[in-house]
Amino acid sequence: MTRRPARPEAARETASLLSEPARVAVLLPLPLGELYEYAVPEGMAPPAPGTICSVPLGKRFLPGVVWDRPEGLAEIAASRLKPLAAIYPVPPMAAPLRKLIDWVAAYTLSPPGAVLRMGLSVPDALEEPASLSRVRLSRLGGEGAMTAARKKVLAVLEEEADAMAPADLARAAGVSPSVVAGLVKTGWLEPLTLSADTGDAPDYHWREAEFSGDQQAAADHLGDQVRAGGFAVTLLDGVTGSGKTEVYFAAIAAALAAGKQALVLLPEIALSTQWLHRFRKRFGAEPLVWHSHLTPAARRKSWRRIALGQAPVVVGARSALFLPLQNLGLIVVDEEHEASFKQEDGVLYNARDMAVVRARLEQTPILLASATPSLETVANVEAGRFHCTALPERHGVAALPEIAAIDLRRSPPPRGAFLSIPLRDAITETLAKGEQAMLFLNRRGYAPLTLCRTCGFRFECPHCSAWLVEHRGRGRLLCHHCGHSQPVPHACPSCGTEDALVPCGPGVERVAEEAAALFPDARLAIMASDLLSSADAMKKLITEVQDRQIDLLVGTQMMAKGHHFPHLTLVGIVDADLGLAGGDLRAGERTFQVLHQVAGRAGRAEHPGRVLMQTLQPEHPVIAALLAGDRDRFLAAEMADRRAHGMPPFGRLAALILSAPSPELAEQSARRLARLAPTDPDVTILGPAPAPLSMLRGMYRWRFLIKTPREKLPQPLLRAWLARADLPKTVKLAVDIDPYSFL
Ligand SMILES: [Zn+2]
Ligand SMILES: [Zn+2]
Repeated sequence: MTRRPARPEAARETASLLSEPARVAVLLPLPLGELYEYAVPEGMAPPAPGTICSVPLGKRFLPGVVWDRPEGLAEIAASRLKPLAAIYPVPPMAAPLRKLIDWVAAYTLSPPGAVLRMGLSVPDALEEPASLSRVRLSRLGGEGAMTAARKKVLAVLEEEADAMAPADLARAAGVSPSVVAGLVKTGWLEPLTLSADTGDAPDYHWREAEFSGDQQAAADHLGDQVRAGGFAVTLLDGVTGSGKTEVYFAAIAAALAAGKQALVLLPEIALSTQWLHRFRKRFGAEPLVWHSHLTPAARRKSWRRIALGQAPVVVGARSALFLPLQNLGLIVVDEEHEASFKQEDGVLYNARDMAVVRARLEQTPILLASATPSLETVANVEAGRFHCTALPERHGVAALPEIAAIDLRRSPPPRGAFLSIPLRDAITETLAKGEQAMLFLNRRGYAPLTLCRTCGFRFECPHCSAWLVEHRGRGRLLCHHCGHSQPVPHACPSCGTEDALVPCGPGVERVAEEAAALFPDARLAIMASDLLSSADAMKKLITEVQDRQIDLLVGTQMMAKGHHFPHLTLVGIVDADLGLAGGDLRAGERTFQVLHQVAGRAGRAEHPGRVLMQTLQPEHPVIAALLAGDRDRFLAAEMADRRAHGMPPFGRLAALILSAPSPELAEQSARRLARLAPTDPDVTILGPAPAPLSMLRGMYRWRFLIKTPREKLPQPLLRAWLARADLPKTVKLAVDIDPYSFL
């Protein structure tokens, strides 16, 4: 670690003025409520707020950030004050990001340190890398003899397709470092400096898109907004295939042209190779990518590049919200309606909403893009808080697919099967024409429930109140809540009868099994997150579909996202009613969004597409709106319903989830909390009641739901209530503001 160059004269001045050391308030990335005070060592200038430093805590050292000292922070005695140890060689955390951390903490009722942990997610990146020098394959080739050892080194670099540190390279190739040095000397390898290592920068006028009239108008409007700067929220509302991505690329280009940075947030599954390919085509370089599957080395390198201001465009999943970009000119949240922007463990925050807060603190424009915007966003547009730019047409020749229902009451599938005759006929026709078909079911595994035909025993997770889902491909029963897994036994564990276990209901694996039996000549593939273990496997499958090496694709929501399959002309939705059954606040909205998105996969090129939805309730408002292709009618009906019940976005919800190691303790604690509940005529408190998922990972759960009018924030009331709670240490209490999960 390097220390900031000391300024002895400044320190002497401070010392003579105060006659005791200068002190700073430091926020540590720990789930703690308070700031810690440290002394500034003699000879060091007092660090400014935002400075990232190393401080002692107990017997260890932790990274922390010098925080703005709040009024009324009690000073601890100078004798007990420990000095901060060192300052990291990274730029300070900028004020808007520090304010965002405080804001998110206050909004979600989380300790600020827990939020800071997301902002300092790669502590290793704070240190200067040990060695800056790296080597890569030379484009021109070299001279001299090619020995077996030298070939091994070149093969490793071919495989990695990236520059490597010489020592790592020698180790990976199993040769001595002198072999690598020899290759550099003879020109086969070329050394790289760190600045060359930052990659090519996106070029905003690399290949400008050709736009239709609507697209050009939208791109111009958004470009103007970016050039003008300042905080503004715009919904970019465009149907699937309308060219939304290209339009917001134009806004990114405007930010780059102004010398600013852009941050794009995407749901993790939408961050596909196809998206990156489009970006590369438009800007001639890759953006910096941030998601949970990066290797530790890649995370370290990327975080550092961002902190040092070397990443003009960053695209990432939820957690990219807290990256230390210093010069933001635009934030984009694509697929803004996606529930996966809500983090469901640790700090429970919605990255879409908090991105709007960051944009406000940074005084920068933000775009929310979607084909099926959330009700929250639509309500904000209607109230005039957000702007709206619409892209009504599909770009190019692609027409919207024709959507029809198959009423399962009239055309039920044959006994024990899940595909009805009309759907089977449509698949036969499609395949006969040499086109591709897709079957969609948003449920992983083979069957959602396995039971014993003899005694009725059902397989349940030992740690959760949930059925185990059979995954036949792996021969195991899995809990989708905690990951518990066990082999499928031969005999019933309850009555011992052999071969008596029967699967109930379909998962994608079971639908694929049925389709394979019906269409033995079709080349079939399953697309589900648990079956595609790596990004490469996913990439390979997508290429196979695009190259028409697959005729029939069966998959979950994973295949609904952003993939462009030009020869796919039929989408069969196996169970359109599946998502409607849950009955939670957003069941209808979510079902509409996912089915709309899946339907959008059909007929993206010159071939017109067709969507068939199997349903038991074609008259249900969600299904009827999909059939009519009338999104706005659905939104209006759903909006009226929410308004009538004072539900979000017309009211506010917060959930309290109490978990305890025993059912008795959970219930007692919930009752105790209920007795302390605030009484306020504007506030409705529902519960306590056992949670629908009454046991999760071995903890017993109870819930409260708190409902307030839109103009009344629930946080102050919750804060006061929970301050009185005084629950046993083993009882965990989670506060979920604006909940998406009601389990
Ligand atoms: Zn049995
Ligand atoms: Zn479980």
